[in-house]
Amino acid sequence: MSGIIDLRSDTVTHPTDAMLQAMAEAPLGDDVFGDDPSVNALQEKISGMLGFEAGLFMPSGTMSNLCAIVSHCQRGDEYIVGQLAHCYRCEAGGAAVLGSVQPQPLEHQPDGTLALEDILAAIKPDDIHYARTRLLAIENTLGGKLIPFDYLEQATQLAKRNGLSCHLDGARLFNAATAQADAVGSNSYDEARRISGCFDSVSVCLSKGLGAPIGSILCGNWEFIEKARRFRKMAGGGMRQAGMLAAAGIYALDNHVSRLKEDHLLAKRLADGLTTIPMLEVEEPETNIVFVNLIGSYKGRSRELTESLKEHGILVNGTSRLRFVTHLDVDSAGIDATISMVGRFFGDQETVRTGNAKRTHQKPWSLSQ
Ligand SMILES: *Cc1c(COP(=O)(O)O)cnc(C)c1O
Repeated sequence: MSGIIDLRSDTVTHPTDAMLQAMAEAPLGDDVFGDDPSVNALQEKISGMLGFEAGLFMPSGTMSNLCAIVSHCQRGDEYIVGQLAHCYRCEAGGAAVLGSVQPQPLEHQPDGTLALEDILAAIKPDDIHYARTRLLAIENTLGGKLIPFDYLEQATQLAKRNGLSCHLDGARLFNAATAQADAVGSNSYDEARRISGCFDSVSVCLSKGLGAPIGSILCGNWEFIEKARRFRKMAGGGMRQAGMLAAAGIYALDNHVSRLKEDHLLAKRLADGLTTIPMLEVEEPETNIVFVNLIGSYKGRSRELTESLKEHGILVNGTSRLRFVTHLDVDSAGIDATISMVGRFFGDQETVRTGNAKRTHQKPWSLSQ
């Protein structure tokens, strides 16, 4: 895209020509009447793929999580969630504001999980003083981290034993499934289904690594999805000839799942390259997201780096900890250019710092070069 290397998020991708063609050819109907064959096909496809009775096409992951939480919970109920979870932290408090459902946030462990004993301690007894604890919401991947499958089983079993429902914010479920498939020698579709099997509902973004322009899917049983359909309408998410967008989702599920491992390899390549720069502390990526801190005398100066990268057409997210996200609109040349541009930023800084000393040793003619 116009020579810009955009690593801010995997949401920045544009539909490929083949995806656009699938969108243009999609059979359409009015989805509020349930008449859009492409939307119906997408909902059936993904719910079948993940092992649920039904699916519901949503305009965004935010609306999908909101409809999920308010379908699982009533006014005055609460849901247990991680401090860093998108549905708690990054969705403008929607479940509390619009649904009167209170969050019960918990601190994460270093691996992104919520300690089982913390979950257990947060489940309130039936007492008029307390909100009714109804739901456990887990995110996978969380900040690019794969949440271990054994943990998902244990946490959701604990929740169910205590009468809670379980929701997975799987915005990047297929990135999680790809990393897990790699680790256990399986395939991404099977692992996506295995992860989903722990939960009563799952939300998946089509507009992130899968490369569709718009949309998420919420999956669950029929009763749950019918409730969510009413809330979607209430929230203004009942779309009409949405099959154009659903067709992009179908195309993405068929064609863009197996390529996610390329994004993960590019993230690894980026991390390996940046690790060679001593002013950086690089977190080893598990999927398609690389977090980087500036250290030593560069601590707190990430803004200078991002501004400098931006001048060279490289976009990165973050004001202190930097986030680089790989996706289908970035290739190895873009990653290598990013590594060398970051290296150059520090090289230039070091030259500025020691510049006077160096210059005194230079011959006059070399200064003009
Ligand atoms: C992006 C994201 C969402 C929200 O999706 P939008 O389509 O941007 O509203 C929800 N959860 C997680 C984990 C996300 O990464």
